[in-house]
Amino acid sequence: MKVYLIKTPEYEIENLEEVEELLNSFQGPMEFIAENYEFNPEQFPFLEQISEETPLSWSELFFLCDFYRKTFQIGKSDFIILLTKRRNSFNFFSIFNENKNAFVQTSGWELFTQANSKFPIAYEVVANVLRCLMKLHLSFPNDWIHIQPLGCMNDFCGNKKEIILKLRTGDICNDCLAKMKKENIDDQIINQSLGIFEVIRDQLLFKQGFTRNINPKSIHVNKDGKIFIGNKMINLNPLESTLFIFFLKHNEGIMLNDLQSHKKELLAIYRKLRPAGEESSIDELIKPYYQGGTFSVNKTRLNKKLKEELGEPLANFYYLNGNRGEAFKINISPDYISFDIRY
Ligand SMILES: [Zn+2]
Repeated sequence: MKVYLIKTPEYEIENLEEVEELLNSFQGPMEFIAENYEFNPEQFPFLEQISEETPLSWSELFFLCDFYRKTFQIGKSDFIILLTKRRNSFNFFSIFNENKNAFVQTSGWELFTQANSKFPIAYEVVANVLRCLMKLHLSFPNDWIHIQPLGCMNDFCGNKKEIILKLRTGDICNDCLAKMKKENIDDQIINQSLGIFEVIRDQLLFKQGFTRNINPKSIHVNKDGKIFIGNKMINLNPLESTLFIFFLKHNEGIMLNDLQSHKKELLAIYRKLRPAGEESSIDELIKPYYQGGTFSVNKTRLNKKLKEELGEPLANFYYLNGNRGEAFKINISPDYISFDIRY
């Protein structure tokens, strides 16, 4: 089963891809695919941006899903989930319809959590797929929509702050599980969903300082630019190492738009690791994404290798993360970092 993630024009493709990456961190029958497709506001005048505050109606949002489904002949069993910064007419976080379409609002999460908004957004993507498959009715009263929050995926969250509870539990209550069985949802889909919820919960708890007594290990860059975390050497290619060392040096974080002004330093690190390295590799690294810049790809690969080499939760200390428009950084305290490298 495929779940296509599409977006309205104001939501950044890089952030869409971050959500996709997170969703694909637990394997199963659902395959999440971020689509780099731009709706043309001339064709859909309601997309002309007046302000993010101007709500779109549910029918406008579902119309975009249907348009995409028809245009690209998406199968009836596959889902289309539209991610949008725009508010919607009933001020919901997200909603689905019976045609396996859904939308998720990507803005405003900072009111409820300090963690990166990709966590609640990814959660809502999965929750809408399950709600649709379990044929949840949106009428009240209803055994599967909990007005009083239980820490279940289907807590109604009339008070939007209650959303944090279900993100923290990552759970589905017995009544809702029974309804899912009754509707013959594949066990593997439920299992994958709970697996994704758990990844989200663990990373959220980690961000809030609940590290289950895991402390970071010190990180050392030797004079040749080899990177050690504890006693373990981390195997990265020269570009990944360049990014990692650069962001360890710039512990305060760097905005992507400012990478250009650090080109000299990036090139110096890169040539230390790879003396015959082409300047063009660094040019491509710092180019904006829409011009084919490779920052995003390299950052994703770097984080993936850290996860493979260190495992979670330890790897969380060393990930390079950020949203476009904000600084990207590695969150580990500089007290744990030491360098012998000179460049
Ligand atoms: Zn429930």
